[in-house]
Formats: sequence, C-alpha cells, structure tokens
Amino acid sequence: MLAFCSGACLFGIEAKPIQVEVDLAPGLPGLQLVGLGDTSGREARERVRSALRNSGFRVPQTRVVVSLAPADLRKEGPGFDLPMALALLMATGQQAPDALQGVWATGELGLDGSLRPVRGVLAMAQAAKKAGARALIVPSENGQEAALVQGLEVWPAKGLKHVHNALAGSVAWGVATAPMPPLAKEFAPDLATVRGQLHGRRALEIAACGGHHLLFIGPPGCGKTLLARCLPGLLPPLSPEQALELTQIHSVAGLLTAGGGLLQQPPFRAPHHGCSGVALVGGGAYPRPGELSLAHRGVLFLDELAEFRRDVLDHLRQPLETGMVHLARARFSQFFPCQLLLVAATNPCPCGWWGDQVRPCRCGERLRRQYWSRLSGPLLDRLDLQVLLRPLSPAELSDEGNHPLQQSSMEVARRVLLAKERMIAQNPKGFNNAEAPLETMKGRLRLQGPAKNLWVVTLERLYLSARSAGKVLRVARTIADLENSEKIEAVHLAEALSYRPLDRKQA
Ligand SMILES: [Zn+2]
Repeated sequence: MLAFCSGACLFGIEAKPIQVEVDLAPGLPGLQLVGLGDTSGREARERVRSALRNSGFRVPQTRVVVSLAPADLRKEGPGFDLPMALALLMATGQQAPDALQGVWATGELGLDGSLRPVRGVLAMAQAAKKAGARALIVPSENGQEAALVQGLEVWPAKGLKHVHNALAGSVAWGVATAPMPPLAKEFAPDLATVRGQLHGRRALEIAACGGHHLLFIGPPGCGKTLLARCLPGLLPPLSPEQALELTQIHSVAGLLTAGGGLLQQPPFRAPHHGCSGVALVGGGAYPRPGELSLAHRGVLFLDELAEFRRDVLDHLRQPLETGMVHLARARFSQFFPCQLLLVAATNPCPCGWWGDQVRPCRCGERLRRQYWSRLSGPLLDRLDLQVLLRPLSPAELSDEGNHPLQQSSMEVARRVLLAKERMIAQNPKGFNNAEAPLETMKGRLRLQGPAKNLWVVTLERLYLSARSAGKVLRVARTIADLENSEKIEAVHLAEALSYRPLDRKQA
C-alpha cells in the first residue's frame, strides 16, 4: 500500500516541494526512513510514532518505508513530521486520501500529537501557492505568517487529531487571517532628538541617499549609536515585495514572532563585537541567514569596530561587494540577499580621547598605531564616509533642542527620497551612486571649472589612492544629487573631501 503527502523544505530563503512517500511492505514491524539525515531521521521517527499512538491512531504492525523525495535535496528540521504522519494514516486506511488531494502540510509533532511551529513557513506558503496547491496545513502559531501569502488557503491546526477531524469536516480549522498591519509606530529615533553633531547628521543623509557605507570616529558618549539608529528612519519605505522578502528572511532564521505581521520598515541590526563569522554572515550545515541578511534593505551597525575579530570582518568583504551572501557546500550552493548600509563606529584610540581639546589621550603613539592597524585594511576601504565626531560641548549638552538646523527625520527622509529618485533615474539599472560601475558613471562624475581646479590641487596635496579618489567623487555626486544639481560644483567636492579625514592624516 503506497501513499503520498506534499510538504516543503527550505533552501536559502526559498522553499522547494517535497513529496513524502509511505510504503507498507511485508516484513518485520519497523519504520525505515530514507532521505533525512541520521539524527533528524531518528528523532522524526520517534515523534511521529508517539504522536500517532497518543492521538488514538493505529501504528502499523508491519514494515514501513518512509521516503522523502527528491533525494538529492538536503533536508533538515522537524517540518516533515506532519506530512509523514498524514501519509502513514492514508497508507493504513485511517485517512481518506481525497481530502488531502493537492494539500501541502508542514509542522513538528509533539509526542502527545500536538503541532509545534516551524521556521520558514512564509517561504513554504509561497512555494505551495506557486505549485498550485489547494491549501497548506500549518501549526496554529504559524497561521498568520502563512496567511501573508495571498491567494492560498491556509488551514491552521492545533494537533494531529485536529487535522484529521477538520479534514473529515467534523471540526473547523483555526483562524488564519493575515494580521492587521502594525500601527505606524516610531521604529527609529528621530534625528530631531540628536544634540549637535551636524556633520554626523549630514553624513547620514548622504549615506541614505547614495548608499554609502559610513564610519563614525569619536569618543565615548558623543552619540555614535544614536546617530546610527536614526538612519533606518531616513531610508525610503519598503515596497510590498521588499517587505515580503525581508519577512521571509527573518522567518527562515526563525525570528518571526507569532502575529507580528509583515516587517515593513528597513531593519536595524547591531550584532555584538564578539559574534562569530557564521552569526554575522550566515551558514551552518543547514544554512541560515546571518546578521548581514537580517539587515537586508536596512542598516547593519558594527559598534566598536576594532573589537571585532579580523577574520570575522574579512567575511564581510565579498557580500558587501555583491549584495549577496553565497554559501558554497559540497553538493549545493545557497544564496541570501544582503543589500544594506553598513555603519561602523570606533573610538579614535583605545582610551577614546585622542584629538580631544580638553581630555588628554593616555594611549601613546605605539598603542594608537596598533589600534589603527587593526582597523585599516579592506573593510575600512569600503566605508565611503568617514566622520570625526567631537564630544558634545556643555552648551550642546544643556541645549533643549529647537535648533533651526536640527531637522526632523521626516524632513530629511523626504529630501533623500526625491534625490534618490533623481539618482536612480540617471544611473544605469537604477544603481546607487556608491555601487554603480565606474565606467557607467563617467559623465556624471565629470568635473569642470572651479571644481576641476579644486580637484587638481587636492590630488597634489593629498595622497589619495585611486580607490579613495573614486569614492570622493561618488560622494560628491550624491551631494550634488541632494542639491538637484546636474554638475558637481566645487562646494559639493569640498564637502565630499571633508568625509575623508583618514586619507588626510597619511598625507
Ligand atoms: Zn587614547
């Protein structure tokens, strides 16, 4: 007797269809599982057997072969429990197959037969819809998440018995309406609450517009973290497709809270400096997205950059370049998107007060040099904007705000949005100024008149590497876009140069 039930398996941030096949064969009683890893398989077998028994079903007293196809897909996790149990019920004549025609199922079974939530249900629901499934059975807690996918029936259930009874029509399925969108509550602090730091605030605006990665250098307590936290509030809102994609990434990572709805705002992620390469970039035997992908279309904040392990930071280079984390495995590769703004922050020296007007630095030349040699290198090279932040003056500390230059996040975000539209219309394929291939930007980066003179003088005075010089021009282009200026003027270039203090020091 042969029976089938459809399910799904996660692959990157997507899900692929899985067919669970159950065959009852003559032989000694026992359950043989083909297509799941050893440990996963052994555990699944025990859960399914106990769940069947404790839900009042018969466990077959014959040889049972359960196989998950296709065999060449790596499968993990407990989400196959429910389709396995349902296929077993059909094979033993305890469940009519008609009711499950074209229906997909996912969920972990408890030993008592209850259904427990699994990660990645949003991706599974999308795969089920794409495959033309009639409905998807999910654990109750995953119901709202699955219902985010429009045009697919979602049947939430509390346990195996509930599934069986609801398929027979004797009880109702759970409720799975998509949750109301969350209230437009403040998701990032407002720029208007930041005291002083005009240079830092302006850098945020430029970063948000042109997609430039950013480094804040300043003493403890000068507001580096608060500034960084404001940045998501300056980015354009996510489109519905982008919101769905971001939610899918968080779902695959197992980070969605039940009933939380779509993630509709650009995310802000701030991993601790002790985090591992896998936590930052993603990975594992069954790959999950890391902080880089959780920050997709938002901001990744690396506070105390010097404290991160060098080898961990090295993992960032490739993904930042391509906007994609590529995890290569022996038999397959997985991709997680990671288009984000990187904001790094660091003290100017180990004690934090180097360059301060009042407090002396006690580090000494050798220690400072060591500190900066740890920071420099390929990652520092990717931070287009470098901003020196001064400690707040007593006047600024007692300032109650209402400074005419302290615009709110909403005012700045509006300017960013308009400039971004202009920029994207000009660049090929809608690239940001920070990432558009240089050869496609030649016309937009051309300097004339006073701007050209300033550039010639600058190149004579500073030792800008070719890479740094390119970055200055890109930043100047973004500033010109913010001013709605077709040409890069000298004033735009001068401002762009003010964001390269580290280049200056080497001169
Ligand atoms: Zn110091």
